[in-house]
Amino acid sequence: MSDQRATDVPTYDAAVVGAGFAGLYMLYRLRGLGYRVRVFEAGDGVGGTWYWNRYPGARCDVESVDYSYSFSPELEQEWTWSERYAAQPEILEYLNFVADRFDLRRDIQFETRIASATFDEGLHRWALVTTAGESVTATFCVMATGCLSATKLPEIEGVESFAGPTYHTGRWPHEPVDFSGQRVGMIGTGSSAIQSIPHIASQAERLVVFQRTANFAVPAWNRPLDPDYIAAVKADYPARRELCRQSQAGFPPSPVEGNALEATEEEREKRFQEHWDDGGLRFLGSFADILIDQAANDTVSEFIRQKIRATVKDPVTAEILSPKGYPCGTKRLCVDIGYFETYNRDNVTLVDLRANPIERITPTSIVTADETYEIDTLVLATGFDAMTGALTQIDITGVAGQKLKEKWRNGPRAYLGLVAAGFPNMFLITGPGSPSVLSNMVVSIEQHVDWVVDCLEKMRENGQTEAAADLAAEDGWVEMVAQLADFTLFPKANSWYVGANVEGKPRVFMPYIGGVQTYRQHCDLVALGGYEGFSFS
Ligand code: NAP
Repeated sequence: MSDQRATDVPTYDAAVVGAGFAGLYMLYRLRGLGYRVRVFEAGDGVGGTWYWNRYPGARCDVESVDYSYSFSPELEQEWTWSERYAAQPEILEYLNFVADRFDLRRDIQFETRIASATFDEGLHRWALVTTAGESVTATFCVMATGCLSATKLPEIEGVESFAGPTYHTGRWPHEPVDFSGQRVGMIGTGSSAIQSIPHIASQAERLVVFQRTANFAVPAWNRPLDPDYIAAVKADYPARRELCRQSQAGFPPSPVEGNALEATEEEREKRFQEHWDDGGLRFLGSFADILIDQAANDTVSEFIRQKIRATVKDPVTAEILSPKGYPCGTKRLCVDIGYFETYNRDNVTLVDLRANPIERITPTSIVTADETYEIDTLVLATGFDAMTGALTQIDITGVAGQKLKEKWRNGPRAYLGLVAAGFPNMFLITGPGSPSVLSNMVVSIEQHVDWVVDCLEKMRENGQTEAAADLAAEDGWVEMVAQLADFTLFPKANSWYVGANVEGKPRVFMPYIGGVQTYRQHCDLVALGGYEGFSFS
């Protein structure tokens, strides 16, 4: 009899997978409301993306005063950021501070990777099994697994045969890596490479960068934060946070007036230069038509190419570094500190893989069509199976034995990017179909967590234990997300936003591009309308 009772009660009300920004806040909210919560985290500490991405130069490209939690006015006042763009160690320190400040660690199980999650239709709950074979059950399962956490190795013959040290930027060791006296080969030129290349180049004897696609980058103009500025931000935090919530991208926008194509060439240059001098991602907001009109985009693309030509002394290298063939901003815009200048160093070589592809990697070298590069250390800055990889790595089974991986065979599908039909009581924090990677992640995470918690509270009030997304609502949402993307230039690029970086991944533009403000309105309207598109039991 007692055994029977034990199986009737799930181990937890909620199991949360991941202890990054999303998992920590979910734990804080649910535990505060009396739910029994357990967080499962593969790493041995909190931090998620900021735990794993410890490569030299790792830094956030959203300004630190905005890339932080807004839920606690006390926390906002207690914590002080030191730089305009916080470096990885400071963000990790912040997340550790949050974990201690709110006593979160006691409900986090570290060094525990979830291998499978299966919905039990009879018992209306999830059964999770760890890679170590431990099983737990929970009424609700929250996937706080991050959008950029499943690292990707390049499909290059022999990559695993390299005999020297090999590092992936997304799984960097916890101990400092010393590149002194090393010949380093670096594959990739995305954000992670663009941030780490200047640091590695300043240490290594020789750095050879293998570039397949040149990237657009704008300067960060990073700087220490002035105490008066910090005081002003802290005094006005509620208004600043609200501005972020009601913005397109989750950080205070620069006022956008007019279209690039309606401006004269002088007006355009002046506006681009002003935004360049300000630095950072707001550059793309110079004009309203940059991300929707190819001709407008051509003007901003050429502006950046001119900057590259003016910075890189060798004209051949400058040309290879000048992005072509896709609209600026449709692959994630990079924010750099001294990236292009690095190619003026004598110890740095750029290899254009479009002209001279890698044929194979041997235990000691990278072999291209034209040349063999002997190296001591290999750095792979080759990115992630973004947005879906961390979820499809887990064997997730919903109603009637349906696998999430199968359901998403032709692209991810989830109502509001939050709940996949056929997978009741499973919430995806910043899942595909939500603004996620197109926004300040912390703003989007707080909005998702708050929405889910409100939903669970409503269910508790009504004595309901199962929430499921309706297939028709999901279909409508997925179609709308695609239509919005088609209105922009984004689908034109072979980016990780469309899964183009992973062989065999369906080409679907995954994030919701309508902005965090509009998305929040959608979610709020769904809740106000009695959770339209959801069924409860
Ligand atoms: P990424 O943007 O996907 O870049 C991967 C790079 O590796 C690309 O240059 C890619 O070339 C190259 N590559 C992949 N496979 C290759 C192969 N087989 N041969 C040659 N080159 C290959 O990855 P990431 O730099 O790690 O950045 C991912 C995202 O994380 C960013 O877009 C950003 O959203 C986020 N991030 C943010 C920051 C920040 O806040 N500042 C820093 C780092 C990362 P192709 O372009 O040709 O595919």
